[in-house]
Amino acid sequence: MISIAIDGPAGAGKSTVAKILSKELGFIYFDTGALYRALGYYFVNNKIDYTNVHLLVNNLNKADITFKFVGNEQRMILCGEDITDSIRSNQISMAASRISAIPEAREYLLNAQREMATKSNVIMDGRDIGTVVLPYANVKIFLTADVRVRAWRRFRQLRQKDIGIRYIDVLKQVKERDKNDTEREISPLVPAKDAIIVNTTMLTLNRTINKLIKIVRKRIDGKK
Ligand code: C5P
Repeated sequence: MISIAIDGPAGAGKSTVAKILSKELGFIYFDTGALYRALGYYFVNNKIDYTNVHLLVNNLNKADITFKFVGNEQRMILCGEDITDSIRSNQISMAASRISAIPEAREYLLNAQREMATKSNVIMDGRDIGTVVLPYANVKIFLTADVRVRAWRRFRQLRQKDIGIRYIDVLKQVKERDKNDTEREISPLVPAKDAIIVNTTMLTLNRTINKLIKIVRKRIDGKK
């Protein structure tokens, strides 16, 4: 099996490029952030205070998280209910970010991620794929961009659903998530030693994709 890890901060464009790349290569795209979001949704929806580590850890295994693929689309199932369309809000982003700093929560989601890579050729995106989840991934990419550019991209996405959203608030939240993700003790957001860093601040989506396809093909041609 071939695995491609794409890590990087919020709003760097990981999921957009991973989806396009996966179609191009015929790989499965697996979004690991959706697992953390599903966990966030569980705690928010059940009104359990996830900032209380004791409560969080004691309730973790009640969050029965699974997923299925409908065509290429990864649908998230929580306790039997399809929650895919409810996990993209800011509230859930912030909850996922807080919860993901707790070692037990990361451990709880680790096997599901590793198992995916044993079943099919996969492009997996997240924060610690190249460093922790799949340290032997065939290709590791660290996708990043200036924080204001990332916040702007996220703002444009969120504005489609919420017309009242303000750029300044999105920027604040992206900065807060960056801080949570990079400063946490366990699996912090850092490029793997053997990752190729791609900065997309000045790149269009097309140029980013072309660059990544070149990198990936160079590494995996002949292994497929
Ligand atoms: O990628 P996405 O923004 O959907 O991830 C939501 C949150 O889940 C991130 O802010 C991060 O804190 C956490 N996460 C993580 N490790 C991953 C994927 C996501 O800690 N592999």
